Amino acid sequence: MKIVAQVKLMPEADQTAALRSTLRTVNDLACWVSEVAFAHGVPREYELRKHTYAHLKEQGIGAQAAQHVIKKVRDAYATLHANIRAGNLGKPKSKRRIKAESKPITFRPEAAQPYDDRCLSWNHDQQTVSIWTTAGRIKNVRFVCSADALKVLQQYRKGESDLIERDGVFYLIATCEVPEAEPYEPDGFIGVDLGIANIATTSTGYQAAGRSLTRYRKRQLALRAKLQKKRTKSAKRRLKERSRREQRHVKNTNHIIAKTIVTEAERTARGLALEELKGIRQRVRLRKPQRVTLHSWTFAQLGDFIVYKAKRAGVPLVFVDPAYTSQTCAECGHVDKRNRVDQGLFICRGCGVVAHADRNASHNIATRGETVWNAGRESRVPATP
Ligand SMILES: [Zn+2]
Repeated sequence: MKIVAQVKLMPEADQTAALRSTLRTVNDLACWVSEVAFAHGVPREYELRKHTYAHLKEQGIGAQAAQHVIKKVRDAYATLHANIRAGNLGKPKSKRRIKAESKPITFRPEAAQPYDDRCLSWNHDQQTVSIWTTAGRIKNVRFVCSADALKVLQQYRKGESDLIERDGVFYLIATCEVPEAEPYEPDGFIGVDLGIANIATTSTGYQAAGRSLTRYRKRQLALRAKLQKKRTKSAKRRLKERSRREQRHVKNTNHIIAKTIVTEAERTARGLALEELKGIRQRVRLRKPQRVTLHSWTFAQLGDFIVYKAKRAGVPLVFVDPAYTSQTCAECGHVDKRNRVDQGLFICRGCGVVAHADRNASHNIATRGETVWNAGRESRVPATP
């Protein structure tokens, strides 16, 4: 499976200048290529190359960088068109869509630039890279990353990496092709319920409370409100830093939760059953004050981490239909909206059982997971004559 590993570059002052001017130059040129593409009704890549390649070479950026710029522009239009087709920009006459279609795509001066192995080489032991810039190739640019990321990079990095600049700091985002382990035959399933009050609840008793994250987020929000009143440049910068820090905190928490869940499944030789992730956003309908507490990307990220770690560990994974998992009694199967008394409490109108609401849901997810797995196994095993 493909994942990305991010490293932070620690360039010397002259290297910083070279990297900065490189990103400015290639993104300026990308804007120009985009105008040409737009004027020609966005032709195919090879045709776009005919219109732009010679000029790009004249600008002195070299053959590889020129090709990457052209491909980047073409890819950006492909993504835009895919989004339009998928209806992500609204209906044909909508404001957003007209805005997106009526002018060429532009690239920020710090936008990502792809590098292949000819323009970028890695030295993992020294933790340095050698990288092409408009001021020539610069060598021994130091980088830092987590020990985990370094291991993944060393073993599995493959193909292109993106150079980006964020708040004056340069990063390389490398694509890694990580092998998956062959899943074992599970001895039952652990159901995982994702929610707001409890971020994750499993049918085996693990519960990751959302309280600490919510409290953290509230504190951040209060500080943010304060900063937003000041409209100075430094207040803006601090706002950005704050939201990054918050994202890192959520990411870290999600990693720990995912690891706990996958490790337990592995240790007990069970599979994992998750709700289909598409459904989570629709399912979690919130009252207004809660909307700010946790965003849907938080769940998507946790789901992604669980999937990634499960695949690497060979833990069988199934996705189940999330409909009515919170209204169905895990004991007797009775479905009633009123079964769920409130956020935390489940009382079955059929059999009278009293349970923790998320725990009850996680049991339903586990049962459905088992059903999905067995149905899949029957279809995989050829019928005996
Ligand atoms: Zn019941």
